[in-house]
Amino acid sequence: MSGRKELPLLDLGPELAPLETELVAAMTRVLHSRRFILGPEVEAFERELASYIGVAHAVALNSGTDALIIGLRALGVRPGDEVITSSFSFFASAEAIALVGGVPVFADIEPRSFNLDPASVEARISPRTRGIIPVHLFGHPADMRALGKLARERGLFLLEDVAQAFGAEYDGVRVGALGDAATFSFYPTKNLSALGDGGLLATSREDVAREARSLRDHGTRGIRYVHHQLGYNSRLDELQAAFLRVKLPHVDAWNEARRRVADAYRQRLADLDLSTPAELPPGRHVYHQFTLRIGAGRRDQARAKLAAAGIATSVYYPVPLHRMPAWDDGAPSLPEAERTATEVLSLPLWPALDAASIDRVASVLGAALS
Ligand SMILES: *Cc1c(COP(=O)(O)O)cnc(C)c1O
Repeated sequence: MSGRKELPLLDLGPELAPLETELVAAMTRVLHSRRFILGPEVEAFERELASYIGVAHAVALNSGTDALIIGLRALGVRPGDEVITSSFSFFASAEAIALVGGVPVFADIEPRSFNLDPASVEARISPRTRGIIPVHLFGHPADMRALGKLARERGLFLLEDVAQAFGAEYDGVRVGALGDAATFSFYPTKNLSALGDGGLLATSREDVAREARSLRDHGTRGIRYVHHQLGYNSRLDELQAAFLRVKLPHVDAWNEARRRVADAYRQRLADLDLSTPAELPPGRHVYHQFTLRIGAGRRDQARAKLAAAGIATSVYYPVPLHRMPAWDDGAPSLPEAERTATEVLSLPLWPALDAASIDRVASVLGAALS
């Protein structure tokens, strides 16, 4: 647009540039150590991460998807077991259940938080249900009080999917310390991100941590080339662990900056005919995304106007999980998830997003919706 700068959805530059010297030093340290797999960087990162989240054990893995797969197996999910999760999430939250032979059962969402509706979860519990995966979507904690009560009463495990909510809190406790185990992703767009793929399983259960350590290394149990079960090659690299250790001390400040960006958006968009994201206590949002609802069929038109003005946006997610072509077999309707998929629009957001860019997004949206 006439020489005007495109506004991307995410700019990692402001986060990486000030850390470049430290990141290069971390790379050099690993290069000179000659240790690239399961060495001192991974061990230190696991300790630092466990202490940050407030759990006893952290097991560093290849990706958030592997963390879900390994977490489900470590929690004892067997072929045919049902696991309930949100119909409104990234595919991996449910894909992992199916990949371990389980049956993903989808519950509807609570529309203000975009997260699992505990009443819908309860309605979908069957004698074959083994556990629940709450996803803290877009950085907003799920309703862990109600879900925790349900899990305790019905004897189900809780595996938190924290991929989008690193550093968020619920009632003063970090998400990731609220269930039996929790999965993290360090994919480059997440609030704490590697310079490549990475993931982690956090838990205070000794049995789950031990099983995850075995599964990430081909089913071994400490002795090389003696395999007790079928596992995976799913270890976080020393290099990625070293990069993540550079970034971890900054993540709280970045999350605070994300919250300020969200407040600025909220103020600038207050008079428009759309809904800005809510923060439901006792949850503390970390705004992985700032996701609007624009109803009445006007979302796509607003998105096109923003695109024409050089402003990138994204639709997370256009198809609810119970309607995915990978397995859609006429599952029952989940009205909130289905409506939400037609209304959501995520705006550009990163910790250093400036006021002028926020104003620019707001004025284009104002014109599009007037
Ligand atoms: C990113 C993400 C994952 C998968 O993480 P990867 O590291 O990309 O495998 C899982 N669940 C949710 C909700 C995610 O956003």
